Amino acid sequence: MTNSAEGSFNLPLARSAVDRDYLSRSRPELFDELWANPNTRVLTMLDGGVLLHENNGSASAELKLLPVEAVPSAKLRVYLGVSTQNSAFEPSGTPIVLAVLSKNAAALIEPESSNWHQLRKTGAGLSDRDAGLFAQALALANWHNNHEYCSRCGTPTVVEQGGWVRRCFKDDVESYPRTDPAVIVAVIDDQDRILLGSQGVWEENRWSILAGFVEPGESLDAAVTREMFEESGLKVTQPKYLASQSWPFPYSLMLGFIAKAEGEQHLKADGVEIEKLRWFSRQELKAEALELLLPNRISIARSIIEQWYGEELVSKSEVG
Ligand SMILES: [Zn+2]
Repeated sequence: MTNSAEGSFNLPLARSAVDRDYLSRSRPELFDELWANPNTRVLTMLDGGVLLHENNGSASAELKLLPVEAVPSAKLRVYLGVSTQNSAFEPSGTPIVLAVLSKNAAALIEPESSNWHQLRKTGAGLSDRDAGLFAQALALANWHNNHEYCSRCGTPTVVEQGGWVRRCFKDDVESYPRTDPAVIVAVIDDQDRILLGSQGVWEENRWSILAGFVEPGESLDAAVTREMFEESGLKVTQPKYLASQSWPFPYSLMLGFIAKAEGEQHLKADGVEIEKLRWFSRQELKAEALELLLPNRISIARSIIEQWYGEELVSKSEVG
């Protein structure tokens, strides 16, 4: 749970139990040292998926980290840091390395593709350590995947600093993993109703609060005002920050806000991203929840909606 002035938020991807140990990233022999350490464990990843321990039907899952000798090759290695929480399989203080695998290398470890689990499905059921590791690892893997070449000259870049820098040796320029900020906003009207929108590309009857990327040269408050006007036609006021969490699809940071839409205002969906808009009272949301598809439980959108509502909701998404 993350607490803020506006209440508590259940943010599965804002959890962590890893000391990122950034000072070690600059050690020239870092990976040799890690590979010589029998306590080092490797988080293997294939196409954004990771392995989990069989959990014998229990609700919680745990990342299946491997000893270094079980992972002979990798497309990319990133030092994630040292765990600060005991798990069933590794003690606190375990150094952890991400290894992004090729299909062939992954098949030697786990040939069944359905055993490589995606964050959207598993994130809410993981421990603090594992949710944090998975989000960190996925955002880094996605960034590396999109930055193999120098953005100035097109030369292949080289991974340095334990996986936290890519360098173009031609220009002698370093690139750092980036995070794209996006605002996501609960707009509330004078009757204390919440605005939900439905995108044309979504399944029928899927609803969420509105969101958009912060543009260059823009403050967060300005992004809230602009995005809400663009997507809904509403002039919103009093944007207030609520909470944030990583959203590694591919490497965003979701910044949650609440804002007011005062007076009688005409709703106008942009028709490009948002197809339908509707105000929901708490009673309407309660009555219709089982017919609606609400945002995934790992999303900040779900947490903000439930915080406004006052308790957990069960939507059609959870009952099939
Ligand atoms: Zn270059």
